[in-house]
Amino acid sequence: MRITPRHRRAAVLVTGGLLVLSLVLLAGLRSGRPPVREIALSDFLTAIDAGSLRQIEIEPDRFVGVNADGSRVQTAAPIGYAAAHQTFVPDLIARGIRVEVKPGSAGAMFSASALVVTLAFFGLLGFALYRISPGRLPSVEQDARQALKGGTSITFADVAGVDEAKDELKEIVEFLREPGRFGAIGGRIPKGVLLVGPPGTGKTLLARSIAGEAGVPFLFASGSDFVEMFAGVGASRVRKLFKEARKHPASIVFIDELDAVGRSRGSQSLSHEEREQTLNQLLVEMDGFSPNLGIVVIAATNRPDILDKALLRPGRFDRQVTVGNPDLRGREAILAIHSRKVPTSPDVDLHAVARGTPGFSGADLANLVNEAALRAARAGRSSIDAHDLEQARDKVLMGAERRSLVMTDDERKTTAYHEAGHAVVAALLPHADPIHKVTIIPRGRALGVMMQLPEFDRHTHSKAFLEAQLAILMGGRVAEEIFTGRITSGAGNDIERATEIARRMVCEFGMSSFGPVAFRRPGPWDEDPGVGYSEATARRVDDEIRDLVMKGYETARQVVSRHRAAVAALAEELLQVESLDAEGVKAIIHDSERLKVAARTAL
Ligand code: ADP
Repeated sequence: MRITPRHRRAAVLVTGGLLVLSLVLLAGLRSGRPPVREIALSDFLTAIDAGSLRQIEIEPDRFVGVNADGSRVQTAAPIGYAAAHQTFVPDLIARGIRVEVKPGSAGAMFSASALVVTLAFFGLLGFALYRISPGRLPSVEQDARQALKGGTSITFADVAGVDEAKDELKEIVEFLREPGRFGAIGGRIPKGVLLVGPPGTGKTLLARSIAGEAGVPFLFASGSDFVEMFAGVGASRVRKLFKEARKHPASIVFIDELDAVGRSRGSQSLSHEEREQTLNQLLVEMDGFSPNLGIVVIAATNRPDILDKALLRPGRFDRQVTVGNPDLRGREAILAIHSRKVPTSPDVDLHAVARGTPGFSGADLANLVNEAALRAARAGRSSIDAHDLEQARDKVLMGAERRSLVMTDDERKTTAYHEAGHAVVAALLPHADPIHKVTIIPRGRALGVMMQLPEFDRHTHSKAFLEAQLAILMGGRVAEEIFTGRITSGAGNDIERATEIARRMVCEFGMSSFGPVAFRRPGPWDEDPGVGYSEATARRVDDEIRDLVMKGYETARQVVSRHRAAVAALAEELLQVESLDAEGVKAIIHDSERLKVAARTAL
């Protein structure tokens, strides 16, 4: 459809009308409340900065502030604002403001849903308008302006756990501070740096901190912004981005998710032509400026393997810096950064928290501290304690509890035996990670969870460990079968995970009768979709995978049948208390084993 100015005017009129209508609706909903002065969110945030509020109540869709003289002001806030802005609550607490989190009254819930509908409507409308106006690149221009005003205030001190990456990037900071000096001595600075690593490890943060350290503007764009339905839009956005960058004596251009545009060009996909145009434009732009102009393009990706080789040639993204998940020391340092602004009680030991969070990314850790601060605020406390951090870790690890989910007695019982099956197998197999927690409180999408937590950072897995993992995953299904005589769909995810582990053991780790040979499955982006091995081999690969999973199933069967009493005792206890920690599980298994031995000797 072609959009004419008349269409746009009509859209604006309709939007305006609906806005007025929803405001009237919302005002009507609120009329039953005691008079509290309504102010704009920006004024509310200014009042926080000015220190005029002594208490803030956070409701799902609004904040109510109490001034020093007891008068109250309130403002509508986007739903989830406090949770989404990780430092919001910690900042308030640091300013000595009392924070209360309220679930919100029925009226608030009602108006919250009205607000959601309104926001969703405007979001959709905005999205539609954004998509049909090719030349706009709001995020870039806005960010550039913000950065220009004061430079980004983030520095290397705000990033931890990635020391090697920081060391490599220091040189770029030096160059950006004095581009002339490097040029004069003939130094060659990379035009493009590729930050490679999983999500949430701080790649964006690192790029921002380079801009902050060097005091240059930071221009942000995401690869997925460039890939549009309309041919030519992406390329025009790339042009705009670099045009903006050239306006400054030095700048950082950051492209997140480079793989969205930079996928190898042979791949077939719908927006194939559009992506190719965008990618070509990016290559043209990067070749177009001289190395000493003072523009450094930093891109982030999790999949360097699928990038078009042209992107990695000299003069483009010819330097790769790996940004991995933090190790123990890194995690402790990241926790320290994020808890800088939050008062912590003396029982908090960040080293212990870091030890208990192997595999967590920087973003997970930031989230953990934020969750803990929210918990403390909800309980009306002004500092976070060890228990808050522990609960927050479980939430980040296993998803939020869904106590509201109604399960039938039958489902609860099946879930209890299922989780008890996992737990007993995990507790009794020598190569398994220790149990952290077993629960039949639904979390995330699962009805119950058995969590293990390694005692240290694992970088490799032994065959015995992976085999134990397969048996543990099968333990749930086996226990259902033995104790309830039925099988349910509850094991679906376990089966999927077990099959994936077995597939990798056969195809990647050389842990099958094939010996140390790798079998690669072609990805959707592969130029040649043909399989790299014969039909006969494919069949054998399938058999090997099945054998490994079945071996795990057999092991689980033996353990569960041999320790029926322990599984039953654990399941019954779970039905009573819902959650057990490692100590609880150990005690129950130990007791039922002792009883078994006692019964045998009495005979
Ligand atoms: P990525 O770009 O790698 O996906 P981000 O830089 O967007 O990750 O990280 C998201 C948030 O997580 C950051 O804003 C920061 O609060 C936190 N974070 C991630 N990694 C680190 C780190 N290494 N040090 C400190 N904070 C981190």
